[in-house]
Amino acid sequence: MSRLFPPGSRIGMFGGGQLGRMFALAARSMGYEVQVFVSEADAPASQVTDRTIVADYHDLDAVTAFARGVDVLTLEFENLPAASLAAAARHTPLHPGAAVLETTQHRLREKTTLERMGLPVTPFAAVHNLAELRTALDRLGTPAVLKTAAWGYDGKGQVRLDTPAEADAAWQSLDTDEAILESFVDFERELSIVVARSADGSFAHYGLSDNRHEHHILDLSLAPADVPEQAARDTVEIARTIMEGLDVVGVLCVELFLTRGGQVLINELAPRPHNSGHLTIDACVTSQFEQQVRAVCGLPLGSTRQFGPAVMANLLGDLWETGQPQWARACAWPEVKLHLYGKAEPRPKRKMGHLTALGDTVEQALQRATDARHALTGSK
Ligand code: AMP
Repeated sequence: MSRLFPPGSRIGMFGGGQLGRMFALAARSMGYEVQVFVSEADAPASQVTDRTIVADYHDLDAVTAFARGVDVLTLEFENLPAASLAAAARHTPLHPGAAVLETTQHRLREKTTLERMGLPVTPFAAVHNLAELRTALDRLGTPAVLKTAAWGYDGKGQVRLDTPAEADAAWQSLDTDEAILESFVDFERELSIVVARSADGSFAHYGLSDNRHEHHILDLSLAPADVPEQAARDTVEIARTIMEGLDVVGVLCVELFLTRGGQVLINELAPRPHNSGHLTIDACVTSQFEQQVRAVCGLPLGSTRQFGPAVMANLLGDLWETGQPQWARACAWPEVKLHLYGKAEPRPKRKMGHLTALGDTVEQALQRATDARHALTGSK
């Protein structure tokens, strides 16, 4: 049964980074009260929420008190301790649920679950020690990528192996007792799709994004992605199967590789709005954040229709290297929208904000996004 939490209800959010902030902006504009639970003060979301609780995510008393003080719970990152999720869900509905998070916060569990659902994943093997790594390398071959099973993101906790001779050094460098070895996919493109599902089973999907990374961090997302029709259809069906199979209520992003043969392989899941979906704020009827509000609160899902081609360009802390970026210059492009996350310290590689450019074609939007970003630092 789908339970309705109408505007005016209190939504509790675990995590207070940029995703929590953009969620809170969407929720507040719909008349919700938003409270965040964060582990450090000065979280980007705190600037736009009604209340912030600063405590350790493992502090079960704090988590329980937080859960009791809101009507419904959601999150902006999946790496929350299982005991805390269970404690929270005992008091207040949590979407997505603890079982979804248990699966998606662990690469091995995630890939094994997806494989059992009959979905295409990167070939992989579980690795708990050097001997297992050698056996896995024999089976999968090189090049391959060794990743920690838990707590990895944006390329952290992973190392590429080009020959089996690198096994020893790779295993030492990860410093973990549970890892996953994956075949290195010689992909044509990296894709993602953001989807949503309500408690009553209704499903909505955005178009595919074509994602370009720099140093393992998302740099640009282009939508709609120019991919073969069959690959696009397969991707939607994969995402639908995941949402139903895991019984996800909320928003989820599937990251995939498009192989040179036109096949899609799942790389990983994020059970929440995703960086590649930020362009939905300016380019779609319903943003991924509003969609999360709707799904979590039991409101009907909104239209995912995209008004036209759009490109998102991330703004990392590196842009601040020679001083404050020239914001007015980027705003000189009338079709470019500026989003900043309110982070005080612009560290290198830190996601500080993004630009979304609209265009008549994806190429035009891409040109605008990259030109506007160059202009910020005066190099164009
Ligand atoms: P992840 O944290 O697993 O999303 O990995 C970050 C990035 O590393 C991906 O977006 C890819 O660019 C690259 N990558 C990860 N796994 C693989 C793989 N099995 N084959 C090729 N590239 C990969």
